[in-house]
Amino acid sequence: MSKYNFYAGPAILPQEALDQAKQAVIDFDNMGLSILEISHRSKNFVAVMDRAEALVRELYNVNDEYAILFLSGGASTQFFMAPMNLLNENETAGYLDTGTWASKAIKEAKAFGNIDVLASSKEENYCYYPKDYAVPNNLKYLHLTSNNTIYGTQLHVWPDTDVPLVCDMSSDIFSCEIPLEKFDLIYAGAQKNMGPAGVTLVIVKRGILDKVDRYIPTILRYSTHDEKKSMYNTPPVFPIYVSMLTMEWILKNGGVNDMYERNKAKANLLYNEIDRNTLFYNNINREDRSLMNVTFHMHNEGQLADFISFAEKRNCVGLKGHRSIGGLRASIYNAMSLEGVQALVDTMAEFEKQNA
Ligand SMILES: *Cc1c(COP(=O)(O)O)cnc(C)c1O
Repeated sequence: MSKYNFYAGPAILPQEALDQAKQAVIDFDNMGLSILEISHRSKNFVAVMDRAEALVRELYNVNDEYAILFLSGGASTQFFMAPMNLLNENETAGYLDTGTWASKAIKEAKAFGNIDVLASSKEENYCYYPKDYAVPNNLKYLHLTSNNTIYGTQLHVWPDTDVPLVCDMSSDIFSCEIPLEKFDLIYAGAQKNMGPAGVTLVIVKRGILDKVDRYIPTILRYSTHDEKKSMYNTPPVFPIYVSMLTMEWILKNGGVNDMYERNKAKANLLYNEIDRNTLFYNNINREDRSLMNVTFHMHNEGQLADFISFAEKRNCVGLKGHRSIGGLRASIYNAMSLEGVQALVDTMAEFEKQNA
């Protein structure tokens, strides 16, 4: 019996993608070779890279004004690579402090220009997504973290501003439609919602590149990777391949809008049970609740370990909350089925019957 995987990241992948990946490790494209042992410049792998780019373009309706890049270094590298490429020392960028990842992005950006933190929910342990702030017109960009993986909040309404947005979408990429024209840059570590660890997707507006005064090392310039089609150096071949398979699965299952409908249904099912069940509660501002990472707690913390092992026996794994907030977290990314969420809900109800 396979498990229902609620881990936050690296995280669940579609079974179909895993099956195809398994085959490609043994024999890729009937080449008689593994995908792990062929040149990234072979025509078979170049076709993978081209298809991965085409899928991003199709899923988000991205035109040639934007480059699609597959980079290394994780989302954490983008925390500095973005300001390094976009922000001059005498310019100002706005940031929202909405969680641990956002605050790390702020810390790195400060090395490259003036950073104006427009709002922060830190004082309330990041339990809501700030909305009450003004966006000065002179900002070079406004940096957002669309989904706060650790705390379980998500931005559901994009800010009403003409300032270009830069967004860390690591944990909700391809989970809903986005107003692409508002963005100068989107980045996402693959290992939450689009693939395995090891590759980071970057979607960046071409017209804004190579405009800053500082020297940028060749490999840290977005334009280098754009010119070389993400093959300036050896790209993370296998993570790109599995991401391609995952995007193929998203497309086959109706694209990002159908993902969104499914994600809403899954999240509703789970939040309704948390709100109904007498043993559990969620302390996130209702309208900011994440559709991807559902954080919740037990009124009696003494029952937590028991519940986690009870759930594991029923094949629900990965529910322990992040060490910084404790409690529980169910990550219900695109690849999690409604059936998996139902299994968790049934487990919670059963635990209540036995322990209330
Ligand atoms: C996981 C995560 C990161 C860090 O990603 P790495 O690829 O490990 O650097 C950054 N931002 C968000 C929103 C995340 O969920």
